[in-house]
Amino acid sequence: MEAPSTGTPVRVGLLGCGNVGAALAVLIDEQRDDVARRTGLSFQVVSVAVRDTSIDRGVPVPDGAFTTDAAAVVADPDIDVVVEVMGGIEPARTLIVAALENGKPVVTANKELLANHGAELYSIAEAAGVDLLFEAAVAGAIPIMRLLRESFAGEPITRVMGIINGTTNFILTKMSGEGTSYADALAEAQDLGYAEADPTADVEGHDAGAKIAIIATLAFGAEVVADDVYLEGISGVTAADIEAAAHLDHCIKLLGVAERRGDEIGVRVHPTLVPNGHPLAAVNDSFNAVFVEGDAVGEVMLYGRGAGGRPTASAVFGDLIDAAGNSARGHGAPIGSLERARISPMADLETAYYLAIDVDDRPGVLATVAAVFGEHNVSIRSMEQSGLGGEARLVFITHRARESDLQATLHDLRGLDAVRSVGSVLRALGD
Ligand code: NAP
Repeated sequence: MEAPSTGTPVRVGLLGCGNVGAALAVLIDEQRDDVARRTGLSFQVVSVAVRDTSIDRGVPVPDGAFTTDAAAVVADPDIDVVVEVMGGIEPARTLIVAALENGKPVVTANKELLANHGAELYSIAEAAGVDLLFEAAVAGAIPIMRLLRESFAGEPITRVMGIINGTTNFILTKMSGEGTSYADALAEAQDLGYAEADPTADVEGHDAGAKIAIIATLAFGAEVVADDVYLEGISGVTAADIEAAAHLDHCIKLLGVAERRGDEIGVRVHPTLVPNGHPLAAVNDSFNAVFVEGDAVGEVMLYGRGAGGRPTASAVFGDLIDAAGNSARGHGAPIGSLERARISPMADLETAYYLAIDVDDRPGVLATVAAVFGEHNVSIRSMEQSGLGGEARLVFITHRARESDLQATLHDLRGLDAVRSVGSVLRALGD
């Protein structure tokens, strides 16, 4: 057994000590000697800002480290690096700006903040000449930020697609594997602690939307914010859709997609029909994966845990080591000033679609329905009928079509006497 290394001390100020902050304090303590041997740096959490100092958090930090004065932590000249894991926009934004302007590198896991104010913060970090690193903000332990910032800095990326919300992937996996209804799968996710009591941010796509905005900004080097992202959640996905998808050798996944369309960028989150042969179809339960496509590199996929205190803390610690090392070497990893991205309207999207339509089962109906598709240049790739009489349902998969043409088709289908209802409409990968 080697003797513990000492290493140059790096004093860490922690803003927040919840799931991620507490796991980080433990990980730093466990790994201190190994990290010091490998990097020459010895990390010590010296201050921890929380709202309530009376809670015993059982974390290995010095007596008296806890404080409610977060502003004092970021101003403290004895603190070398600040880690923000409190979440939310304010006071996190003000504290990060103050830390950067005080010359301290900052590591954050805060997707909500970066998806709304990222460009401002990247530019302040560059002006201050210190790092702002945020690997943990997107897909937890999966090193997608580092990949986009460093490995693919010279790659002409065309598209990034990800399963970047573990809660919804867990729910969709349950619905697929066990034929469970959406409501039952959500209740199980809540029982297991994968979903919040109010699951809106996850199931309606807001969480994935914030993450895909951050991914798009790094992948295409232009500012994309949360409000730019087209959002559709999974609450409308039914057990019948999952069954129909399986019948067509597909599964349904909530995908975040960022893609280049000419000199514009399209960003969207929606349930998507994924062919069972695609690598993203094999990503189940609460796991995340990010699939990158580039002109030079081809296709690359990363897979792992997208959340949880310890996996997320691992990503934060990796950033902490980078930020402290860069600071000691006198150079960092700036993103710099970004122009606002030109966002491609959703109406211009071209993709394949899945549609389920409830119709009257009588002669001529199929031809009438098919004619509506044709009038709007939407070409049908496959069609299946299930049920008879009042239970008849037609399921279509189209070839690639424009979103605006598809919406016009839906509008006209809803106006047909023979169409009782237009059910699910899902975008599909492939074709
Ligand atoms: P959490 O468990 O709710 O912990 C938040 C911590 O911040 C608590 O210790 C809280 O103090 C403290 N805090 C909040 N507001 C504060 C304020 N105004 N002043 C001082 N302290 C304040 O949150 P978490 O799950 O660790 O998440 C932290 C961040 O990591 C969020 O940005 C989240 O999006 C991100 N993230 C989390 C995960 C995950 O799996 N949990 C994964 C990826 C990214 P008290 O304890 O005293 O209330």
